[in-house]
Amino acid sequence: MSSPSETVAVRSALEIIRDVEPRVADAIASELVDQRASLKLIASENYASPAVLLAMGNWLSDKYAEGTVGHRFYAGCQNVDTVESVAAEHARALFGAEHAYVQPHSGIDANLVAFWAVLAQRVEAPALAEAGARNVDGLSDEDWSELRHALGNQRLLGMSLDAGGHLTHGARSNVSGKLFDLRSYGTDPETGLVDYDALRRTAHEFRPLIILGGYSAYPRKVNFRIMREIADEVGATLMVDMAHFAGLVAGGHFSGDFDPVAHADIVTTTTHKSLRGPRGGMVLCRSELAPYVDRGCPLVLGGPMPHVMAAKAVALAEARRPEFRDYARRVLENAEALASGLQRRGARLVTGGTENHLVLIDVGGYGITGRQAEKALLDAGIVTNRNSIPQDPNGPWYTSGIRVGTPALTTRGLTTADMDRIAELIDTVLTATEPGTDSRGGASRARYQLDPALATKVAEQADELLAPHPLYPAVFLP
Ligand code: PLP
Repeated sequence: MSSPSETVAVRSALEIIRDVEPRVADAIASELVDQRASLKLIASENYASPAVLLAMGNWLSDKYAEGTVGHRFYAGCQNVDTVESVAAEHARALFGAEHAYVQPHSGIDANLVAFWAVLAQRVEAPALAEAGARNVDGLSDEDWSELRHALGNQRLLGMSLDAGGHLTHGARSNVSGKLFDLRSYGTDPETGLVDYDALRRTAHEFRPLIILGGYSAYPRKVNFRIMREIADEVGATLMVDMAHFAGLVAGGHFSGDFDPVAHADIVTTTTHKSLRGPRGGMVLCRSELAPYVDRGCPLVLGGPMPHVMAAKAVALAEARRPEFRDYARRVLENAEALASGLQRRGARLVTGGTENHLVLIDVGGYGITGRQAEKALLDAGIVTNRNSIPQDPNGPWYTSGIRVGTPALTTRGLTTADMDRIAELIDTVLTATEPGTDSRGGASRARYQLDPALATKVAEQADELLAPHPLYPAVFLP
């Protein structure tokens, strides 16, 4: 994963940081130690390459560059123009998109840019045209007030949180839920799969401005061709948030009906999950939406981060190589092996399996909550996160699910045989975990009991699985 010259760079970088603030240098070093030691099954995490990490840690960070390539509000942006246009060029080519905007700082920011681009295209632009104004400053106070009211009263149809949607898909606790009048679609209670007929009925009744596809915790492919048809029937803009599965689209494995870029008007993503880039976001869209998307900064984004755009460019270049297609295939094979290994040992999986990079275990089958399961697994060196499952009896805090994903361990080189061993370790820990009692002796949804000797034994077995696959092997910490 790295070369001797990178070793020198990291060692001296830590020494330079240590001279100024040793606690930060220590935290950076400790993070590598921790990441090397943990069996990382968090579905949204990965390990970026040394090239990506180095492209992010440099003086490009010092440059202000509000605006877009060639149209900046600051002088001296020629190098930022280069990195931003290279990143956008790779993104367009990789995903077959007409336009790419690589400035968003995160997935949440990318969704905000997309929401406002659609609002600007479909609500603001017609209002300006009707009033004969070139921009919002040219509107009368009365027209402006009417427009503000219209912008704040549009409808969004997104996947519900407990079916696997994300907070930014209309949850009241997120700005998306405060901005839009939301209706959610869920999954079939029997199969756990997206119910496209119910989605179509809701869309016809609700008539949303935006139908939003994509998810954080849904272990299946989504048919975006059907979603496109539904959006067309009701005159909605189809937006897809592919944050979780962008790497599977990039690798060519989510194609045809399952390729969001082929069907949606606008697609958002993070760059750090299965895409294996730096922490950040990105928006892809059809040409008609491009002028609105490009206004993301300063409409809802702070100044662009040129160093992160440089790292996005490097990651996207990596994702265009044949090795990435192979990586994405192995992510899928590993998830499939993990799911079948768990099922063979009696675990209950939401939707009965997986077609993507993640598996959602219903830990109610083990008589514990998601919170208890997450903590017990962590004791045994297995890093996961708890997650709601459809119609979750334990609510969004304690939950009844554990979400596990394979992008990170696949980057590290683990195989389908390793996944079967991991399924065994997970099942061993969950079977041995008992619910604890609260301070008044009642059943607790957080406390649990797990034999520490068993946890240590599993942690040792997890170490054995990781040992042949060193992380950033050329980096020797001082
Ligand atoms: N969209 C989806 C589907 C996600 O799963 C996430 C993060 O988990 C986000 C958006 C937000 O991404 P970020 O944390 O980069 O803002």
